Amino acid sequence: MWYNNILETIGNTPLVRLNDITKGVKGTILVKVETTNPGNSIKDRMAVKMIEDAEKAGLLKPGGTIIEGTSGNTGMGLAIAAVIKGYKCIFTTTDKQSKEKIDALRAFGAQVIVCPTNVDPEDPRSYYSVSSRLEREIPNSWKANQYDNLSNTQAHYEQTGPEIWEQTEGRITHLVAGVGTGGTISGAGRYLKEKNPNIQVWGIDSYGSVFKKYKETGIFDKEEIYPYSTEGIGEDFLPKNVDFDVIDLFEKVTDKDAALMTREIARREGIFAGNSAGAAVAGLLQLRERLDENSVVVIILHDHGSRYMGKMYNEDWLRERGFLKDEKLTAQAILKK
Ligand code: PMP
Repeated sequence: MWYNNILETIGNTPLVRLNDITKGVKGTILVKVETTNPGNSIKDRMAVKMIEDAEKAGLLKPGGTIIEGTSGNTGMGLAIAAVIKGYKCIFTTTDKQSKEKIDALRAFGAQVIVCPTNVDPEDPRSYYSVSSRLEREIPNSWKANQYDNLSNTQAHYEQTGPEIWEQTEGRITHLVAGVGTGGTISGAGRYLKEKNPNIQVWGIDSYGSVFKKYKETGIFDKEEIYPYSTEGIGEDFLPKNVDFDVIDLFEKVTDKDAALMTREIARREGIFAGNSAGAAVAGLLQLRERLDENSVVVIILHDHGSRYMGKMYNEDWLRERGFLKDEKLTAQAILKK
């Protein structure tokens, strides 16, 4: 038995119960470990779906160039698919992203342009603007546009949602996921709510992002926006892939809690995951009073820890931010809050 190429190995990721971090929390807490995808993140799923839909629509033609503004994980998925399908890739990213992620994209032959983080999306230097300009200038190029391309949500509606439903034999009561483009939570959440409208869908947001306030008030509040270190979740605009009707609530998690919880997932559960995984687990612990003995929670762990060796898995990085002195206390502190 073999696969015809690496893209066929995407998906069917394991669902694993948390046992130690969640002591004292009611219900069954499961994590969907997306690190086993070839690009080590959930984003492989939507990357391939966006490319295939663009091919079908005639937007991406043989030998073409794929362009995207990406924090790394989507780029990995696109870059791997491009190798197999014979496309070139140019990515724009921000200087907030880990060096490991950028080097990994280059490993697959992609060109990466690093842009400043703290400029408005409309600024010509932003990674959004630079990627749009490249699409205009390069012939036979296609911008994937993961934020507004609804093939992203559709990938999770077709794959991630059904996998979770089958793996829990329909017993899932809560879906918890960090929200960036919104594709994961909107697609998987929509599928699961169609199966059982009582399923709660909880989005994890960052301090410094607009989602939570927008959900609660309908107001896009620029005052909410400020720089933060958590990677992959939260935004300073409203992507089309965030379906606010599917998401029941947003919970914000601090950079410190997200970073320290990411480490605890490795140390206490043996699962080596990325920054947004820590945010999602910390967010669920913050919301634990809403669970009961019958709750079956599925938390998405979006990516692998190897991309964060220079960040929360590095003690100097933690010390510089004053995060280290509170380590070991994170889960207990959140449980006491
Ligand atoms: N975590 C990580 C590490 C990510 O790269 C992303 C994608 N930006 C997310 C969470 C959020 O997923 P989505 O874009 O599907 O909302």
